[in-house]
Order: sequence, then structure tokens, then C-alpha cells
Amino acid sequence: MENVIEGFAFSDFCLGCQKVTEHKIALEGKEFFGICSSCGQKRLMADVNQVFYPKTELWVTRFKIGNLPSVVTGKLIDSAKHPQKKL
Ligand SMILES: [Zn+2]
Repeated sequence: MENVIEGFAFSDFCLGCQKVTEHKIALEGKEFFGICSSCGQKRLMADVNQVFYPKTELWVTRFKIGNLPSVVTGKLIDSAKHPQKKL
């Protein structure tokens, strides 16, 4: 069973829709997945890690979909561990 993590989304090319769509992020076991908000196709997010950018004082979460790097703002991993808290 997957748990959609609120407050995180990214744009990616969906093979099902054949266009760029918004993807929600869900946690299933220990793996993160990007889920197309239009057709529901799931794609594994690899190499997920949180990075702090001192210049902007922002946390971002970097990951790869296929071989393409992508990024969302915020601490995705912490939010997944503490779903009740808004980080
Ligand atoms: Zn799609």
C-alpha cells in the first residue's frame, strides 16, 4: 500500500500520457515513487537524498527518475518519516 506524501509534486514526462504531467510522490515500503496525477503511472525514484543550499537557506530533495535527475523543494525523507508534521 502506498502513502502519498502531501505537499510534494514535480513535473515529469509521463510515458503513459506522452506529455509532461504533474507527479505526486508516494512512499511504498522504503521506496519513493512518482505517480502521474493524470493516468496514475508509477515510476521509481532512485538516489533520493536531501540537500541543504546555504545560499538560499532551502532544503531540497534530489532524486533520479530513470537516468534523469530531478528535484523537489523541502525535506521529502523527513516528511515521509513524520507525516503529521509540516516541515
Ligand atoms: Zn500519465
